[in-house]
Amino acid sequence: MTSGHKDMVAVANAGSSSLKFSLYGLEDGNLTLALRGLVEGLGTSPAFTAKDPAGQVIGQHRWEEGATLGHEAALRHVMAFVRELVPDITLQGIGHRVVHGGLEHAAPVIVTPDILAQLDALSPLAPLHQPNNLAPIRLAFEVLPGVPQVACFDTAFHRSNAEVAQVYALPFELHEAGVRRYGFHGLSYEYIAGRLPEVAPELAQGKVIVLHLGNGASACAMQNGRSVASTMGFTALEGLPMGTRCGELDPGVLIWLMDQRGMDARALETLLYKQSGLLGVSGISSDMRVLLASDEPRARLAVDLFVHRTVREIGSLAAELGGLDALVFTAGIGENADEIRRRVIEGCAWLGVSIDEPANRARGPRVSHPGGACSAWVIPTDEELMIARHTVALLAQSQDDVGARP
Ligand code: AMP
Repeated sequence: MTSGHKDMVAVANAGSSSLKFSLYGLEDGNLTLALRGLVEGLGTSPAFTAKDPAGQVIGQHRWEEGATLGHEAALRHVMAFVRELVPDITLQGIGHRVVHGGLEHAAPVIVTPDILAQLDALSPLAPLHQPNNLAPIRLAFEVLPGVPQVACFDTAFHRSNAEVAQVYALPFELHEAGVRRYGFHGLSYEYIAGRLPEVAPELAQGKVIVLHLGNGASACAMQNGRSVASTMGFTALEGLPMGTRCGELDPGVLIWLMDQRGMDARALETLLYKQSGLLGVSGISSDMRVLLASDEPRARLAVDLFVHRTVREIGSLAAELGGLDALVFTAGIGENADEIRRRVIEGCAWLGVSIDEPANRARGPRVSHPGGACSAWVIPTDEELMIARHTVALLAQSQDDVGARP
């Protein structure tokens, strides 16, 4: 499969219980996907799968039930697999998804020990994600010394938001201490912003709301391909209901839970991140496919809530933009769930968009009738490719900088 590619770029995306990775061939600055893989169930029942670009399984491994595999062991397994598959690989760089770049980082950065310490200091802002994101960087420093590491941030794309879109109505001292709206899913939005001029050139400068509807879900208002506002805030909890996360919530509920149910921070964290959203409301599943196929009233309620909140957030973001030219659907639900797209678009009829059902079933890319004030599109996202591109661009730039030194 990859015999022609020796120069390669790897991408690591480490979540709380999984490690996703991709490998790209690099030839004359062009990236070609060689394989994608996943180690999931870290800490419970770990399993490894690797697939070629056509989706064929090319590697699989299962550890025994209850095996306590950490991120480090997962990464070591991935590296051994890749080395066996492509023995003569020259790894030019590794791009990492890092959830939080704080206020410092509005762009990807080559990680040095100082930068790593700085990113580590942001861990309290994203305690469930940041330490996992940084673990593969730390390990790669150790076992792949000399291979440049690039950190790409989920928050970076939203640093263009005006201060008024970032501030919470709390004492300003907390804003200065970093309690502000950062926004997430930035790598996905940046990828879509790059695809828009190719898919719909007339929209590249327009007012567009991108709906990243996956297990995590958010929406981003863009103008001229730049983020103006988004639904996620200080953490990846705010905004839309998600697979297991609550989305918008009256903060008074938290006070009530502490007073009346005696919940502490850790218990609230588990409730809001892992037991809420589609799973919490339905009591059945966090998986939209399961809920759409179910006749249970609470499964229907969970789906109704998802659509209802999405439509409301579109209204809010359209107000922020002062009008709307297009809606773009992406990620697992946005790309695949025809019914959710249809219902969201129907809920936005007042914006001048109407569903073209045959096009919607065919997954577009355009899924609205022409002639309306607003159009709707499906554009698959590719966060890993975005990270690989950033990695290549930053490494080329750093080589230029070295070359340009007197
Ligand atoms: P992601 O986090 O982007 O991988 O998206 C995961 C979500 O996409 C889950 O809720 C899946 O149920 C949902 N999804 C994937 N395929 C489909 C489909 N064909 N129909 C409805 N939902 C889907």
